[in-house]
Amino acid sequence: MYNIAIIGGGVAGLSAALTLASTKGAKGFDRDLKILVIDDENSDLNKATLWNVPLATLGKQGKDALKSIKEDVASYENVDFIKDSATKIERDSNIKIETKESGTFISNYLILATGMHKFSIESDELVTLHHDNVPRDGKVKLASNQKQMVMEKIFVAGLLAGEPTMYACASGSGVRAALNVLEEIYGKLVVVHDVADSRR
Ligand SMILES: Cc1cc2nc3c(=O)[nH]c(=O)nc-3n(C[C@H](O)[C@H](O)[C@H](O)COP(=O)(O)OP(=O)(O)OC[C@H]3O[C@@H](n4cnc5c(N)ncnc54)[C@H](O)[C@@H]3O)c2cc1C
Repeated sequence: MYNIAIIGGGVAGLSAALTLASTKGAKGFDRDLKILVIDDENSDLNKATLWNVPLATLGKQGKDALKSIKEDVASYENVDFIKDSATKIERDSNIKIETKESGTFISNYLILATGMHKFSIESDELVTLHHDNVPRDGKVKLASNQKQMVMEKIFVAGLLAGEPTMYACASGSGVRAALNVLEEIYGKLVVVHDVADSRR
């Protein structure tokens, strides 16, 4: 059982995971959150060379950037990674996620960050729309409200949320989705900020 599952481990999903994981040991955050990232490792970033991403050395390979964020996320013990494809989502009091090979996982909240190419996860409730923020046809997004909520307990991030196809947009969207989930869990607006001596 997880508190938050994230489907999609591109920059959006990993940025969400990093923000959520970093609440462990942060001042003002007393919940011991368990986070799961399910990713089938086919991010667009694997094909990119980056000349315009803040904090990434100019010319950095996208795959190296992805590896580096993943290592940072994995350094938090409250995150599990599963390399697999999510195939089905069902929602009652919790969210049930079926995968191709690794079985079923249960979570209180879900962040969907599977990119813009297609949305092939079976669900009775989710509806895809045309992604109208990219200069190419045939891309998808999910409808969501201002808090990136697709429906109760399910949030969307990155290109699947309709963001432009830029790394920093996808990353920021992942962080926002994480904050929106934390707002639900803590019942108030939160941010995760640190100073030199703030970690226990
Ligand atoms: C050739 C190329 C060059 C680019 N160059 C730049 C650049 O120079 N600067 C810049 O800012 N941006 C660039 N981009 C854009 C950038 O890569 C994207 O904006 C960013 O990767 C989007 O992140 P995301 O997490 O939303 O989606 P993605 O990176 O697509 O990640 C989605 C993840 O979800 C996984 N997934 C999908 N379905 C499932 C499922 N059912 N179960 C489990 N996992 C699933 C995928 O395998 C993938 O790992 C470039 C993109 C391309 C293709």
